[in-house]
Parts: sequence; structure tokens; C-alpha cells
Amino acid sequence: MTESPVRRMPLPDHLGIGLVTPLMPAVAYVADDPDALDRVYGQGAGYTYAREGHPNADVLARKIDQMEQAQGGLITGSGMAAVGAVFLACLTNGDHVLGGDQLYGRTLRIMAEDLPRMGVATTLADPTDIGSMRAALRPDTRMIIVETLSNPTLRVPDMVGLVALARESGALLVVDNTFVTPRLYQPLVQGADIVIHSVTKLLAGHSDATLGYVAARDPGIAQKLRLAAVTWGLTPSPFDCWLAERGLHSFDVRFAQAQRNAMAIADALASHPGVARVLYPGRVDHPDHARAMALFAGQGGNMVSIDLHGGRAAANAFSRAADGISFAPTLGDVATTLSHAASSSHRALTAQARAALGIGEGFFRISVGIEETALVTGALLRAADAAQAAASAD
Ligand code: PLP
Repeated sequence: MTESPVRRMPLPDHLGIGLVTPLMPAVAYVADDPDALDRVYGQGAGYTYAREGHPNADVLARKIDQMEQAQGGLITGSGMAAVGAVFLACLTNGDHVLGGDQLYGRTLRIMAEDLPRMGVATTLADPTDIGSMRAALRPDTRMIIVETLSNPTLRVPDMVGLVALARESGALLVVDNTFVTPRLYQPLVQGADIVIHSVTKLLAGHSDATLGYVAARDPGIAQKLRLAAVTWGLTPSPFDCWLAERGLHSFDVRFAQAQRNAMAIADALASHPGVARVLYPGRVDHPDHARAMALFAGQGGNMVSIDLHGGRAAANAFSRAADGISFAPTLGDVATTLSHAASSSHRALTAQARAALGIGEGFFRISVGIEETALVTGALLRAADAAQAAASAD
């Protein structure tokens, strides 16, 4: 009978320092004795069990901390896990939460169904209009939650007004910064209390890792977030963290190219007769252009939304003819992707409710990628030709 292999073999001596962060998938970490384990738990230095923390999450968190000028940020298993950690850590039965009226669909669902079920009242108001946010504030408002760019109409909240409103009222200001990234806006630096990211999107950038990030200005809140995440199991997989860290290294060049492409695409589609309207914060005809330029260091981001003439027939023709551009429900990938709100993110709303938000059947959100500018612009213009033909045949 052969001997079974030893579970833990010593690593070779003189490993040296690898050029990239090693992937450390271990679920558990070995301690020499109970005293050593006490020290790890007591001083928080070292690792015990992967759900409680692991090196790949910490390396990634410190890199995003640098981008957000945050301290002690936490990586979570998805963007929604970050949102969930914030609600679980900061709210109590009897609190009220005021949210922007165009939050990400799953966040809206928590606001509409889960928080009320747990005794937390919620209200939605228009974050581009500080008067309507102020009017919705209550004495028991514990939190205000907004996104720095709304989906899919790309409206920009009055962030300066919201920071002041949160200060005045004592509510925590929570900002989901997924769509603009810390290169355009750093919520904590500007006075918000908590910043959230779906790292799945632009930061990781390759649609192969599902992760979130959350950081708080107050170390006491940061500690509560960590406790909620490890207790409720909202923590991430080492492999996803490793992939996201690799993606992050090219973030700046990716985002610069995606923004250049977004401006070119927005301008090209704005003069196409099949396109009724283009929404891009970097264009002067965007309703929040001046605010976007002031908040986002003169940059417009990588998201462009368009409204095609001709309804669903035009929309079908557009997505079918968009050669090499995937119709897929995500954003922030290296490749340009399309999403259609009426059949995906906003399908639960009535047509009237969608119309009130300015979302018709011809409305597409384009998450612009890093392709060669002429190639991607040409493909979208040909798709708009096909949409126009379908609209006139309808
Ligand atoms: N926040 C925003 C603004 C999003 O767009 C999304 C997802 O699209 C999320 C949060 C949730 O992120 P995840 O899919 O990583 O859970």
C-alpha cells in the first residue's frame, strides 16, 4: 500500500517575490497553538477562515481604497452584497431611508419590499432636485442613498446639495459610485459617509468576476460593515478578487479609451436621423451637463443612452444589426455592450411609469468599451441605419 500524500508540504526555500499577487484560495489558516489563534483574533492581524477575510480580498481592497482615498474598505461577493452590508449594518427597525428614484433595480426592490418588511420605512425622490429630496426627508431619516449617475437616463444628482442635506439632517449619505468610478468622483472626499461599487463592472472590467466594494469615512461604521459582511456571508471568493486585481491594473487606460469612444459615439449618433435623442453627460445638450462637468473633473464617463425612433421594431433591428456588439445585461466590460431597459432592468414597470422616466421601447443604454473608435462608431451607425429602416417599414 502506498503512503497517502502529506496534506501540507513545506514550500521550497527561497521563493522570492512573485511579480504578481499569488492566488490564495485556502478556506482555513493554520495556527501554531490556541495562544497564536487568540493573537490573530485579538489583534486582527493574520487570517483564520476565508469568510472572515483573506489576502486576495485585502490586496484588492487596499488598491480600491487608494483610488477612492478611503481607508479600510471591504470587498464583498457582489455589488449587491455591498448594498446589503450597508443596510444590514446601519439600519434598525423604525428608521427611514430616502433613496434616489432611479437606483439600480435590485436596490430599488430592497427599498420597496425588504426594508419595509423589516420595519424600515422608505421613500424615493428625485436626487437631481434638492427641493424634492428635502421635502421627502423625515425626522427619522437615517440614510440617504443615491447613485452618481442614474441608470439608464444618466442623470447626475445634486451631490453638493445632498452632502449639505445629509450634514444638516444627520442622515448618512451613501453613494453608489459604480457608473462614474473614483476617477470622476470620490464620494468620501466630497463629504459622503459611505461609498459603494459594483466592482463587477468598470473596475474589474472583463465580465469575469462578480464583486463589490464598500468603504466608510467613520471607522466605527467601517467596523460594523465588516461584521455584517462576515456574519451574513457577503464576503468574496479569492479567485474573483485575484481576477479583479489584474483587471484594475489596466483600469486607467481602459477608462480613458472608453471615454474617448463614448464622446465619439454620442456625437455620431446625435446626428443620425434614426436617433431621436442622445443622453451623454459630456455633451452640452445633456440636462445635467454643467453639473456633470463640475463634479466629474470635466469628464463624461463611458455610458451613453439613446432613444431610437420607431419603438420595439427599431430596437430589435438595432440590436441585431450592431455587428460585434453584444446585447447583454451588464456594463463596464472592455467590449461595448447594449442594454434595453424596457425588456430588462425596467421591465417590471408599466409603460406609463417608464414613459415618465423618459424610457420608451427605442431606449438603449450603451456601455462603451475600448475598441478602436472608428470600428465601434461605424458598427453603431450601421445599427442605427437598420433601426431607421425598420421604423419606416413599421
Ligand atoms: N449598483 C449599480 C449601480 C449597478 O448597476 C449594479 C449592477 O448592475 C449593482 C449595484 C449590483 O452589482 P452586482 O451585479 O455586482 O451585484
